[in-house]
Amino acid sequence: MRTRVEDYSNLKMKKVDYIIVGLGIAGVSLCEQLQKHGKSFMIVDNGGDGSTAKSGGVFNPTVLKRFTAAWNASAFFPVAVNFYKSLSVKLGNDFFVETPIFRIFKSVVEQNNWSVASDKRELQKFLSTEFLKNENQSIKAPFGFGKVLGTAQIKTDSLLSTYRNFLENKGFLLSENFQYELIQQQENTVVYKNISAKKILFAEGAKAVENPFFPTHTLIGNKGEYLIIKAPKLKLEALLKGSMYVIPLGNDNYKVGATYSRDDYSLTPTEIAREEILSKLKTFVNCPFELIGQTAGVRPTTKDHRPLLGSLIESPNLVFFNGLGSRGFLMAPLLSEILFGFLENSISLPKEMDIQRML
Ligand SMILES: Cc1cc2nc3c(=O)[nH]c(=O)nc-3n(C[C@H](O)[C@H](O)[C@H](O)COP(=O)(O)OP(=O)(O)OC[C@H]3O[C@@H](n4cnc5c(N)ncnc54)[C@H](O)[C@@H]3O)c2cc1C
Repeated sequence: MRTRVEDYSNLKMKKVDYIIVGLGIAGVSLCEQLQKHGKSFMIVDNGGDGSTAKSGGVFNPTVLKRFTAAWNASAFFPVAVNFYKSLSVKLGNDFFVETPIFRIFKSVVEQNNWSVASDKRELQKFLSTEFLKNENQSIKAPFGFGKVLGTAQIKTDSLLSTYRNFLENKGFLLSENFQYELIQQQENTVVYKNISAKKILFAEGAKAVENPFFPTHTLIGNKGEYLIIKAPKLKLEALLKGSMYVIPLGNDNYKVGATYSRDDYSLTPTEIAREEILSKLKTFVNCPFELIGQTAGVRPTTKDHRPLLGSLIESPNLVFFNGLGSRGFLMAPLLSEILFGFLENSISLPKEMDIQRML
């Protein structure tokens, strides 16, 4: 029987700067970064149900529980907006739909807290000072809404499928499961099948725990579930945030959620999540609706809620881009720039993002 190495040695060796594993938002951002700087790459992705595909696609630089800015929002936000707008033009696909979020106020105290927050420098451009009265009979919001600006709905299905096509047409995509056992590490190169590269960049999201080179304890994961409902009387155009998000999908369909759970990392929808979402939804939506689906995904979260970038001392050619948590869309574009600076220009990673802080 021939060995696997012999199988691939018959093929002509292909030399690239980088191999990327994983085409979620981290992988897309890396591909764009490398193309911008004229670097060659091959990307391996199995088209599985990653976090990006299962997410709500809400692009939001604020934390609407406490009315604060998300971590480093002032740095992440402008880079991300520019990234998604340019990518929409490049792909001829308007997957970045600027849409406000209407945050339901629970009380007068919340209205006051919002007013105080909206005066803060880092929140001024995001929290509108004008309160909106509720005129939609299908929503329970006696204290009205605060309007969040600068937010968007990212059509993740459309982004991922268009980007996949784009890579396929360029011949940059291997659509398969990456086989970790085939990695051959040499001094300044890594070889995978018949591809030789300077480094492999792993961007597998929560699935990284199956990568034998990844320090699995650094990622804890957090399962999130959504219900899909049909509600013809709801008539929502903006994103609605009560105790959960209601995200318009078109044709009177909406995604409602998501839940947070550390109990189980499977992609199987659960009854417990269904009950939780339904009971929360009924506290702020009072029109009839039909339940038409349920989905689950796993967020690649870390203990300190910070990303995981960089490599381990013993294998500098294997590099990780992970830990995007529940804010992947906001953070990925700038993080890919930071990682590129580290890889190509030896710029040190910020300590709070460096995977080595966890080792
Ligand atoms: C329910 C839910 C709701 C969310 N809502 C939001 C939101 O509204 N806004 C927001 O900003 N963030 C949200 N998030 C978080 C966001 O989805 C993540 O931060 C982000 O998508 C992570 O992207 P990633 O590219 O790191 O990983 P992923 O999107 O998981 O991508 C990894 C890719 O690698 C592939 N892969 C893994 N292993 C292999 C292998 N061995 N071989 C080949 N391919 C492989 C996977 O199939 C996948 O395609 C949500 C997450 C969940 C689960």
